[in-house]
Amino acid sequence: MNKRVKLVSIVLAALMAAVFTAGCSGAGSAAEASAVPTVITTTPTEEPSAEATAEPTATPEPTPEPTPEVTTSLAQLQAKDGYMPPKSLDGIDPLNDKVVALTFDDGPHPENTPKLLDILKENDAVATFFMVGTNAEEYPDIVKRVYDEGHEIGTHSWNHKDLMTLSLDEIMTNQYGKANDAIEAATGLRALIDRPPYGSMSEDMAEQIGREQILWSVDPEDWKYRDADTVYDHVVNGTDNGGYVRDGGIILSHDIHATTIDAYERIIPALKEEGYKFVTVTQMMQIAEIRGKDIEYRFGHAPTAAEAAKNGSEPSAGTEE
Ligand SMILES: [Zn+2]
Repeated sequence: MNKRVKLVSIVLAALMAAVFTAGCSGAGSAAEASAVPTVITTTPTEEPSAEATAEPTATPEPTPEPTPEVTTSLAQLQAKDGYMPPKSLDGIDPLNDKVVALTFDDGPHPENTPKLLDILKENDAVATFFMVGTNAEEYPDIVKRVYDEGHEIGTHSWNHKDLMTLSLDEIMTNQYGKANDAIEAATGLRALIDRPPYGSMSEDMAEQIGREQILWSVDPEDWKYRDADTVYDHVVNGTDNGGYVRDGGIILSHDIHATTIDAYERIIPALKEEGYKFVTVTQMMQIAEIRGKDIEYRFGHAPTAAEAAKNGSEPSAGTEE
């Protein structure tokens, strides 16, 4: 069943490449560019109506470069107008590369986030930033810089509330929705991924939200230990409580602390030295899909495109072989 889904994706990608090539010979208007991603939208994720009604009517800026090579069957990662496209796995061997995702929460911060961006650039590394809406609204230039420099952005609520104390409607409209409004105001596009503050989320709520809620597999507790040496040690050497970095891991940190940034100045080269390649969260989701792994850092299994279209004749895609 999965093979069939993948085959369909490959055929669609081929078709789309043809369409794209044809489109390039023309004037390449914004209308053409935005028409391309809809071709691979085999089954778009249904947004809960709460967020759908909260969508502003403003026309988003034209999407930069379409990414036709993304052939994931995860419904959440299908290209959607007005949303940041997932990153392709160009240059990554998903089965053989040793990969790790660096994730930074609670920013952007006016001094520490730009400093981290400089470090990432020096090391040719990518990261994922789960932003708090109030900070994204206050520092739109930094949000834009994060996106323009090839990193990934996710929402981390509007004002860092424990989402499990709120209703689905409040989460979608006033927390994730409002944070996404701020991200869209800065970049022209909305984010495809979220991380709940404190990791506070139930599987049931994640399912109702309808998007993977991205957690982590390594927690160096950088918010607690405001000491660069300790944070370095916790990430590179691991701890019993916070977990150990390994292939496929997602590391949690916070770009609002100067000590964390100082630690990452050394952590990034150290992990590179160990042979790790840095990937974003949407890349890690695709790698996990290709590897057929059930991953520990997400709540609520995201439906495949086939599963999302459960009205159709296709039964659930089930587990990967
Ligand atoms: Zn947080």
